Amino acid sequence: KEYTDIHSGIKNTLTMLEYKFKKGNVKLVEDYDVTLPKVKAFVGELNQVWTNLLDNALDAMEVNSQGKLEIKTIRDGGFIKVSITDDGPGVPDDIQSQIFDPFFTTKEIGKGTGLGLDVVTRIIRQHDGSVELDSIPGKTTFEVRLPIDDL
Ligand code: ADP
Ligand code: MG
Repeated sequence: KEYTDIHSGIKNTLTMLEYKFKKGNVKLVEDYDVTLPKVKAFVGELNQVWTNLLDNALDAMEVNSQGKLEIKTIRDGGFIKVSITDDGPGVPDDIQSQIFDPFFTTKEIGKGTGLGLDVVTRIIRQHDGSVELDSIPGKTTFEVRLPIDDL
């Protein structure tokens, strides 16, 4: 693990997914608390977390003619909280308890492996953090918390 500014990882990931934002006509809103301390993390793994969550949000908004994706960072007690919110159709109540399971997918064969959120869960656990879903139609938020261990 190394001390890293989470914003640099988020920005790198956003750059990698830029084509997908353009393709989907998705508006990106960034709201960062730049005063946040660095976190001790496996940088490549964390970037995989942002990639998987953003990928899912962009997939969900494919049904919109134009979507809005918001990514926000804030301090929450001893944690850094990263929220990724999309305005897609949301996760239906009856499958909310299943989406973190390995191989669970609602996507067509070939489009989804159902492993994205399982990987997210495992990486976040490895960082002693947490990931939570809050979803209603039109507003879906994944909240990731990563512990701050002050230097
Ligand atoms: P995959 O993307 O391959 O289907 P994931 O583990 O990444 O696998 O996601 C599992 C399922 O969770 C998706 O198939 C989808 O049904 C649901 N899901 C995840 N993120 C969102 C989102 N932002 N909006 C709506 N549904 C979502
Ligand atoms: Mg996925």
